[in-house]
Amino acid sequence: MKKTDAKLKPATLCVHAGAYHNEATGAVTTPIFTASSYAYPNPSGQNIYQRYSNTPNQRVVAAKLTALEHGEDALVFGSGMAAITTTLFALLKPGDHAVFQEDLYGGTYHFVEAELTKFGIEVSFVKVGDDFAAQLRPNTKLIYVESPSNPLLRCVDLAAVAALGKTRGLLTVIDNTFATPINQTPLALGIDVVVHSATKYLNGHSDLNAGAVIALNDIIARIRPCAVNHGGMLDAHACYMLERGLKTLALRVERQNENASKLAVWLQKHSAVARVNYPGLPSHADHAVAARQMRGFGGMLSFELRDAAQAVALLGRFKLATAALSLGGVETLVTSPAKTSHVKLTAAERAAIGISDALLRVSVGIEDADDLIADFEQALAAK
Ligand SMILES: *Cc1c(COP(=O)(O)O)cnc(C)c1O
Repeated sequence: MKKTDAKLKPATLCVHAGAYHNEATGAVTTPIFTASSYAYPNPSGQNIYQRYSNTPNQRVVAAKLTALEHGEDALVFGSGMAAITTTLFALLKPGDHAVFQEDLYGGTYHFVEAELTKFGIEVSFVKVGDDFAAQLRPNTKLIYVESPSNPLLRCVDLAAVAALGKTRGLLTVIDNTFATPINQTPLALGIDVVVHSATKYLNGHSDLNAGAVIALNDIIARIRPCAVNHGGMLDAHACYMLERGLKTLALRVERQNENASKLAVWLQKHSAVARVNYPGLPSHADHAVAARQMRGFGGMLSFELRDAAQAVALLGRFKLATAALSLGGVETLVTSPAKTSHVKLTAAERAAIGISDALLRVSVGIEDADDLIADFEQALAAK
């Protein structure tokens, strides 16, 4: 692997960090190493094996993510949930208590409620804006946040959470999927561990499932044995795809920041729209926090229609945007959280957390902003 200067800018790191160098051929991209057996002993001194996360394709992606997130090491997994569950199982044990932000990604929420508690780990949930410190117990070992969150794009003050963790001697973990390291580098703000669903922006083309964890060496050294035992690593072909996707991460995210920002401003002025949730808008509850800790405000936004009955109808009227789940790809996707991610909650439970039937979430793609706005315009005008 090429040594890369950590002072290089993110767009450069996307292309060059971790790049595989083969002296014999000078190939400019990484070959796909499909071997499930490597001669041992070999010059690396390691027993190389895919489940040990030490094959060339895995290490190349890990090195790129390490550089982008300002960490010291990383592990890549077969899904975001594999990265999250392995990290939590590695860092928590029976008798420990962990505090989670309440509006977590649904999969993470269900894992915490259904699985972590089965192993005698105590959990508490905190609403964004409420005091994390008030929930700490003598046995609290970890605080877990997501910022910006889904689907209201609430932002948590990461430097404050990191400082609380340091004073109380507990670990802080963030799911940085929505922001990406282009917009936000939590390790540089003092957070201990970054996890990602690489299925989303990191890969960016809606054609792969992957996950990652990035941290300093001592923390990755604690997670690695758990990853080996749980076996959820990423295979060589998927690593190759993720490496390829990551090369354009900065380009894609910069365009998505711009597009989302233009669409948010446009939607806010539309008479059929009651409210727009985008951290880049001064009207957003967490705009000041976001402006302090993010370099760009991201490609995710949500908005509420004045007439809830129009929300589902609107989903069927887009010509460029697709009504679909997931996020972070090059194409614009629109979804109704009340009908999808939060469908298992009662209407009253949804209302309590601010998710109405009139709310739509947009993952803004890299299309031309004018074309996108025209698509929203015709969809909102149609009856
Ligand atoms: C999608 C997602 C996950 C889960 O990732 P998978 O790759 O689907 O396992 C976790 N966190 C966030 C914020 C996500 O959007």
